[in-house]
Amino acid sequence: MSFSNLVRSVVRAASDNYTHGRDGYKICKFTPHHMSGVLTGEQCAALFQRSSRDASANYCIGVDGGIVGCVDEEYRSWCSSSRSNDCQAITVEVSNSSYGGNWPISDASWNALVALAVDVCRRHNFRLVYDGTPNGSLTRHNMFSNTDCPGPYLQSRFQELCNVVNSQLDGGVAPTPIPAPSVGRNVGDVVTINGIFTSSNSNVQLHPARNSGRITKIIPGALNPYLLDNGDLGWIRESCIIGASSSSQSSGRKSNEQIAAEVWAGKWGVGEDRKNRLKAAGYDPNIIQNLVNKGVGKNGTVTPSKSTQSKSAIDVAREIWTKGNWGTGDERRRKVEAAGYNYSEVQRYVNEFASGKRK
Ligand SMILES: [Zn+2]
Repeated sequence: MSFSNLVRSVVRAASDNYTHGRDGYKICKFTPHHMSGVLTGEQCAALFQRSSRDASANYCIGVDGGIVGCVDEEYRSWCSSSRSNDCQAITVEVSNSSYGGNWPISDASWNALVALAVDVCRRHNFRLVYDGTPNGSLTRHNMFSNTDCPGPYLQSRFQELCNVVNSQLDGGVAPTPIPAPSVGRNVGDVVTINGIFTSSNSNVQLHPARNSGRITKIIPGALNPYLLDNGDLGWIRESCIIGASSSSQSSGRKSNEQIAAEVWAGKWGVGEDRKNRLKAAGYDPNIIQNLVNKGVGKNGTVTPSKSTQSKSAIDVAREIWTKGNWGTGDERRRKVEAAGYNYSEVQRYVNEFASGKRK
């Protein structure tokens, strides 16, 4: 059973949400859907883990561009309201970047979709043909049923998808990195990671984790360009990086006093999370804490007050999971920390909701 090497994690659908095998059909089609929601690939895949959902996709691409394997390619997903299409297609659920309107998707999701399509076409030896009918190899859900899927925005880019993917298959264009970094990455930057850490020469899963660390070395390559200083983390995929902040202005490190001011401004979280992040960024948490205790860096900034919190971290996680409040990625981290919560703790609860451990 297999998935593309581009996946950052595998969250397999419940076995009663897809068909084992493909009834003798070969894989020769590609069908992108939209989620009608803003989710990570893992969150979408978790929906297909619910038994009797009667729906699935081979892959889910999150708003952060992370690709998650759900239904092994050898199997037919239940995705496009068409048995014959799904028997022949690799189906992909793509997150939207905001709700409603023309249901846009992020650049990171688009780049991941292109990269996945190129990889699928290469391995299964076909090209994308889009003629607006089910006869083409690039097909849409709304060819088979009365649905908006894949949404106006993504549908408007189907011909472009065809062109970009085929030209990459022809070797005419450099492969699209997945996803495009949203911020410049430099040695000394602190990055936040959500996903699977991979060893340097394979896609072996070491452990699913969320952590952060300081970049100690940048190695060219789309998949595993950074080596972090957290020892056991090793190499990581670009697509696992959900946030980054520069801890060094050009070559200069920030002073301990500057960092203390950032602590007051809520940029480094609280408790153990703060200690770990400071350590990972090369600062001594004890020195920083002493400065903070003395009030260094406090001028003009207000630290979030615990007593103003009306909700628990679980409540916040529930809002994230059920309502989509608090944004995603970097934005979520900023908002959650600005409100005085421990981001790692909140995110751990979100992951528990996503995995069904917590209802
Ligand atoms: Zn669909």
